[in-house]
Amino acid sequence: MDMHQSATDPHAEIREEVRKLCARFPGEYWRELDSRRGYPTEFVDALTESGYLAALIPEEFGGAGLPLSGAAAILEEIQASGCNGAACHAQMYIMGTILRHGSQAQKAQYLPAIAEGKLRLQAFGVTEPTSGTDTTALRTTARREGDKYVINGQKIWTSRAEHSDLMLLLARTTPRDQVAKKTEGLSTFIVDMRTAKGLTIRPIRTMMNHNSCEVFFDNMEVPAENLLGTEGKGFRYILDGMNAERLLIAAECIGDAKWFTARSAAYAKERVLFGRPIGQNQGVQFPIAKAYAQMRAAEAIVQKGLAKFERGENCGEEANMGKMLAAEASWAAGEACVNTHGGFGFAEEYDIERKFRETRLYQVAPISTNLILSYIGEHVLGMPRSY
Ligand SMILES: Cc1cc2nc3c(=O)[nH]c(=O)nc-3n(C[C@H](O)[C@H](O)[C@H](O)COP(=O)(O)OP(=O)(O)OC[C@H]3O[C@@H](n4cnc5c(N)ncnc54)[C@H](O)[C@@H]3O)c2cc1C
Repeated sequence: MDMHQSATDPHAEIREEVRKLCARFPGEYWRELDSRRGYPTEFVDALTESGYLAALIPEEFGGAGLPLSGAAAILEEIQASGCNGAACHAQMYIMGTILRHGSQAQKAQYLPAIAEGKLRLQAFGVTEPTSGTDTTALRTTARREGDKYVINGQKIWTSRAEHSDLMLLLARTTPRDQVAKKTEGLSTFIVDMRTAKGLTIRPIRTMMNHNSCEVFFDNMEVPAENLLGTEGKGFRYILDGMNAERLLIAAECIGDAKWFTARSAAYAKERVLFGRPIGQNQGVQFPIAKAYAQMRAAEAIVQKGLAKFERGENCGEEANMGKMLAAEASWAAGEACVNTHGGFGFAEEYDIERKFRETRLYQVAPISTNLILSYIGEHVLGMPRSY
């Protein structure tokens, strides 16, 4: 069974190379890290050295200048190989904000260094404990004082904060009651976490190895030149990157679904009980087949979204639907995989329970399924806004 893209896939070669790289990081590597919630430094270094994390950085800044579908192919293959791109995927979509809204000086300062692997831009500080999905209610403030901003507040679920040099931070520069629209008055900053004072990072232990953290800002100073774009327009800049983020996360879910399904089908053929392979029983075979069909449907929508994105068209519908359907497909494939393996599905050495925990996240983050349904209801079907 070949679940990879067809021979006409423009990224077939990249996929092949990513699979080769991932083969150097087998299940044992991820299991050991998982048990101590360690960061896959060697894996991230290998991806960086091969240029994959700079896939979307234009060639003029030292990156590969690939289209979004190239980055999606990389992340999908990482997941389909049993590895975990969550350790580094954010760099691919965060740097888009610098690319689209940064000044020439900021692009020249950061993008080549990121492409070379000298700087890591892996941390994205948007979510806060009190505001959650209601982003414009966030409470972190940035107050301008001469040639700097003074930041106070807190973020939560800032993944990879301990393993990143830079953080893209969203903070309020004008109080919510002083702006015409609540989406105004928010600004985006590049925070150099290596030198920032008044910054405290506390890891949160979660059900999977995700290196996510709480981050506290206590009069943290950021040079005014680190403001991205125009003050007060930061929410729009974050929204601009969301379709790309959703399509990339969807690609990861498709990769997970392929990994689970390949495992399920192989085991269902080889495990013999009652004198025949368990996969001969429709009760075992059908959930695997159904999850496969779900994955293929999600994949088609994601491909459509990627093509629209690359043509510069609005791909909000496909990015949202693709992310939701791909996250559901990977979960269905994971469920089928656990059931197919019976008790062995729970044994760590099979990696299934690890991948099962890892893929569950994507129904909640970076955007929950409810909020995707709200988007479809409101923006695609024209029904009233529910919140
Ligand atoms: C492991 C992990 C890593 C993460 N990494 C990052 C990161 O790097 N950077 C970052 O900024 N954030 C990150 N997040 C945060 C993530 O984006 C949020 O958890 C997610 O958007 C949901 O927000 P919340 O947890 O605040 O839930 P809440 O907003 O409190 O929502 C709780 C529930 O209510 C539902 N809900 C809320 N409002 C509505 C509504 N109007 N209609 C219907 N249902 C609604 C939601 O769907 C959800 O099911 C991460 C989260 C996790 C768990």
